[in-house]
Amino acid sequence: MWSPLNSLTFLPRLRRETTAFRYSPSIQQAMTLSSAFNAFKSSKSIFWKSTGRLQRTLAGCIEGKGKTLHSGKVSAVKLWPDHAGKGRYFVCRSNAIRASIEFTEESPLCTTLCKDGLKIRTVEHLLSALEAMEVDNCRIEIKNSDPEDIDIEVPIFDGSAREWVEAIKQVGLKEATDEQGNCCEKMAAHMNEPVHVWRNNSFVAAFPSPEIRITYGIDFPQVDAIGCQWFSVTSLDNSFYSKQIALSRTFCIYEEVEQMRKAGLIKGGGLENAIVCSSSKGWLNPPLRFPDEPCRHKVLDLIGDLSLFARFGSQGLPVAHIVAYKGGHALHSDLVRRLSETI
Ligand SMILES: [Zn+2]
Repeated sequence: MWSPLNSLTFLPRLRRETTAFRYSPSIQQAMTLSSAFNAFKSSKSIFWKSTGRLQRTLAGCIEGKGKTLHSGKVSAVKLWPDHAGKGRYFVCRSNAIRASIEFTEESPLCTTLCKDGLKIRTVEHLLSALEAMEVDNCRIEIKNSDPEDIDIEVPIFDGSAREWVEAIKQVGLKEATDEQGNCCEKMAAHMNEPVHVWRNNSFVAAFPSPEIRITYGIDFPQVDAIGCQWFSVTSLDNSFYSKQIALSRTFCIYEEVEQMRKAGLIKGGGLENAIVCSSSKGWLNPPLRFPDEPCRHKVLDLIGDLSLFARFGSQGLPVAHIVAYKGGHALHSDLVRRLSETI
């Protein structure tokens, strides 16, 4: 039987509340001691604790190919299992970008990772599925048909995370080990005090809570069919996520489509990869999968964006009650940046 104390050999002494952060020598070599200390350093606002679970990875490889939302090009993605401590990272033509807040670039209508001129757009639905389904360590290879393209995008599929979740369930998960075969405990951030960010009349806040809870509100007074919606998750686990959140599709307002197209966005958008609502005619491609599908999709996006707080195979989502109102990718990223700054 696996014993955590036998197989884990490196125990940095951080603050007293960080009780279970251990790495094997190989992981220790892969990152400097100081970066490990910084990654799980507690602060006035945050403390790190073991989730009581081991880091996991995929039990096999997943391949996905499809049209992308904004560029309209076709791209191919391969998800590979990886060692504990590696976290989630994209690889495009031998360039690697960690799925981390430090590489995000503000972009309209999607979350973009950017490093050395290479951009990977619309990462949020894939990262949401990986975070919620507990694929803590994963190498994500991505390419499109143009070998010179430095602006790559993750396929949109039906606008939800369903394809990714189904594929993850099919291939299964296994405990991730480091290069020496040792398991690593999975850490998560907890809140000592509330942290919040806002822009105009939108906000996202993380309150101390013993479990992950999410409350999300949206308000579209000009579009009756959407209007004001609230959706709450009282205890997030992968079963709830896959049944109640992953299926919800991205949505847009019909009257704003032309403006977005002129801005060079949603070139690949269509009725097959988004639910579209007109302010005068209502939903153009019903039925909805849930009456509050737009609000649930915001939760899906939020989980994907908060996954960018993950480090060295830890959980990205802080163990907190996260309350968001009229948020978007930029505001979600602001919260992650704020949490990172407090460390
Ligand atoms: Zn989305």
